[in-house]
Amino acid sequence: RAKSTVTNVIKSKSADIIVPNQLIHEYVWEHLDNWYDKTAVMCFDTGKRYTFQQIYHKSWSLAAVLRQKFQLQVGDTVAVILPNVPDFPVAFLGAIQAGLVVTTVNPFYKPDEMAVQLGDSGSQLIFTSRELLPFVNKATNKLRKRVPTVLAETKPADSLPADCVRLDELCDTSNSNNKDKLDDLLMSPDDVALLPYSSGTTGLSKGVQLTHRNVVSNLYQMSSPDFVVNRKTEGGFQDVIPVFLPLFHIYGMVGIFLNFFAQGCNLIMVSNFVGSQFVKLMQSYHPTLLFAVPPIIVVILNNPRIRSDDLKSIRTIISAAAPLGASAVEEFNNKCQEKIDLLQMYGMTETSPLTLMQTPRLNNGTKIGGSGFLIPNTEAKIISIDGDSTGLEAYRSGELVVRGPQVMKGYHNNAKATREAMLGDWLRTGDVCYYDKHQHFFITDRLKELIKVKGFQVAPAELEEILKSHAAIQDAAVVGIPHPVHGEVPKAFVVLRGDNNVRPDQVKQFVASKVANYKRLVGGVVVVGSIPRNSAGKILRNELKHL
Ligand code: AMP
Repeated sequence: RAKSTVTNVIKSKSADIIVPNQLIHEYVWEHLDNWYDKTAVMCFDTGKRYTFQQIYHKSWSLAAVLRQKFQLQVGDTVAVILPNVPDFPVAFLGAIQAGLVVTTVNPFYKPDEMAVQLGDSGSQLIFTSRELLPFVNKATNKLRKRVPTVLAETKPADSLPADCVRLDELCDTSNSNNKDKLDDLLMSPDDVALLPYSSGTTGLSKGVQLTHRNVVSNLYQMSSPDFVVNRKTEGGFQDVIPVFLPLFHIYGMVGIFLNFFAQGCNLIMVSNFVGSQFVKLMQSYHPTLLFAVPPIIVVILNNPRIRSDDLKSIRTIISAAAPLGASAVEEFNNKCQEKIDLLQMYGMTETSPLTLMQTPRLNNGTKIGGSGFLIPNTEAKIISIDGDSTGLEAYRSGELVVRGPQVMKGYHNNAKATREAMLGDWLRTGDVCYYDKHQHFFITDRLKELIKVKGFQVAPAELEEILKSHAAIQDAAVVGIPHPVHGEVPKAFVVLRGDNNVRPDQVKQFVASKVANYKRLVGGVVVVGSIPRNSAGKILRNELKHL
């Protein structure tokens, strides 16, 4: 029999959608008139709130000032280092509307980590808060660079340090034609708009270049008829969505904030979420949609103070950013007597982020343990792990590769990493996956080095560099090991230099002093004689995982 030329390219079963030539803010403000006076964002801690029209006017004023006072040009990069506060949308949209590229930085980063991203992205202005300013200053000192800094959420009475201005002062809304002062014609949907950081399949964190078109496409894909989860804001109805997942990460930034802000939903900003606040959040705001990561589902299941009655306002809970086990879904369905749709989504920073999503709107769209169907305009193949790019048939496991308008332009200043991530116009996800006869996809493992702790990225290469900077450590390797609550945690293997003696707890402490809490070596530190490597010098992580 002649060798089949069919390559098993799976295409979304949903009708293609036509994505207009739009900039992100054109999409965001398209239906503003429908919810002009409604509350757009509200702070869980302080009650501070903004309506949609307030954010519209503030962000356009800011955009004009960024171009005129700070002389920033289309394509310059600015950093947003803020927790989830009502001013995040003002700073974020203001920068986008000025034609700038926004790089969002984890506000829990230590100064060294901030400095790496600020330096690599070439950020020319920083939005941050009074509380984070000491860390930001340490980071910019490291870079030996004075960067103008805009402070959100600062009371007018507070005196301001040099080089700092108050966000509120830049948002003078008395001049209503700020929008007209900006020359939108200089901007194209193919310009880069966002630069979130991700380690991708290997190595250190890299800036992921997402264009306006990438993001707008994903927003249309997410709200397409087969996958939409919010109800239309009209009459008195407005979905209420708590935002406790960090806005610096693509899931919070595009999947929650941009997506639902643009559809007139009410976002409750929670800056530093702890499980014990969950009941208060439910009882005070009666959310209708909830966006979570698997550890939050585990909290909902195991915290005896959270009763199914507390969840009664919720129609749908989405879990994404890390795998949600079938047993957690089953337990959840029992606890909530199937009154809430618990849906899994799958995506990555490099795909703006969404590619797969479960949906009760399509037959076989909610299989337990699955990640769902391809969203519109998206194609996928499963390729064998040995690198042959022919697509495998249903039920055969391999690496998931995807293609669609939401796939990134590339990695910032890193053509080599971009080349390695792509197979032509297909993006290698680094995830092991299969699809069944209904084309429902199941993510079963991860090929790439990435460790996901509570949905946060931890790049082994970063921790290995830190470990090797310790005087007593000659070589190091870090892998992820399973953890019942956090999903995974990092574990280190170290080779000591000469007859140096350093205790595992000292190594843990050394790393902890340099990184955000979730990157700590909670999985432990083991001293070994050598790190197993292949002939090309690549660490054999699977061998270490089984040690
Ligand atoms: P990030 O770029 O931080 O969003 O990380 C993307 C990676 O998170 C993916 O490549 C997967 O390894 C993992 N991930 C995201 N969503 C899921 C999911 N629903 N199931 C399993 N892994 C997931």
